[in-house]
Amino acid sequence: MPSVFRFAPSPNGLLHLGHAYSALLNFDLAQQSGGRLLLRIEDIDASRCRPEFEAAIIEDLGWLGIEWEEPVRRQSAHFVEYQNALDGLRARQLVYPCFCSRSDIARAWERRADGGGEYCDPDGAPLYPGICRGLDEAQVRKHMDSGKKPAWRLDMARALPLVARQEPNLYWREARTPGGDMIRHEPAQPETWGDVILGRAEVTTSYQLSVVLDDAKQKVSHVVRGFDLFHATGLQRLLQVILGLPAPIYHHHRLILDETERKLSKSRRSLSLKAIRETGATRDDVLAMIGLATLKVR
Ligand code: GLU
Repeated sequence: MPSVFRFAPSPNGLLHLGHAYSALLNFDLAQQSGGRLLLRIEDIDASRCRPEFEAAIIEDLGWLGIEWEEPVRRQSAHFVEYQNALDGLRARQLVYPCFCSRSDIARAWERRADGGGEYCDPDGAPLYPGICRGLDEAQVRKHMDSGKKPAWRLDMARALPLVARQEPNLYWREARTPGGDMIRHEPAQPETWGDVILGRAEVTTSYQLSVVLDDAKQKVSHVVRGFDLFHATGLQRLLQVILGLPAPIYHHHRLILDETERKLSKSRRSLSLKAIRETGATRDDVLAMIGLATLKVR
């Protein structure tokens, strides 16, 4: 079976050099192994994703000489699949409705102020303090009747024992090199994420839910992505177990840093690949900038 790689950008901004690195690495690996490269557009967030950014992604990837299989999978065309998976989790009481705003969560933490336990998830966001975990039907109805739409949160306390029964030592296979060799077992620590949102009020899914469903649906065998998603993999492994999905091999590659040693980011408006191209830089210049000058795919 040929290996299946994927590049999965969100069209919520222009690609930067970090994306170029990730896409080129995946393309090179697919080529070297006689495998396939898929492109997936992760556009579930209609408020931030725009068609012009998707067009720019396609243009940048083409300029980099990357080739991928058609058709491109657009997550926005698959909401029904995500909804079905969420419905299944709801039926198994593995998610619960949550009506909290960000400020409700911040206030709850202020009130607790007991210094006990972990406060943040691995991304530095406040953990959900469980305000809605025990709502009864009447309380849920009251919120609904007042016009509020809930988000759906994973009930981590229920999910963990279920997963432990199937996989007592949950781990993922992390390749030490992008090519997939020297695999080590990385312990997954999904509990560090707490009761994450799996279905947002507006979109009925989330990055975490749709990414595991799509990686399985597209039969991705190797997930090669930036180290910023390293800890998310532990949570994604938990979701794979509760949803009965296979686990790919992972490799989390180094991040491309800017001159202040911070990782490039669309939200901080890091210099885009498009802007770099417009200065007259060639593909080889870009390869040199990201330390891929020895890339086999030319
Ligand atoms: N869509 C994510 C991003 O643009 C990448 C998801 C992944 O590779 O798992 O950061």
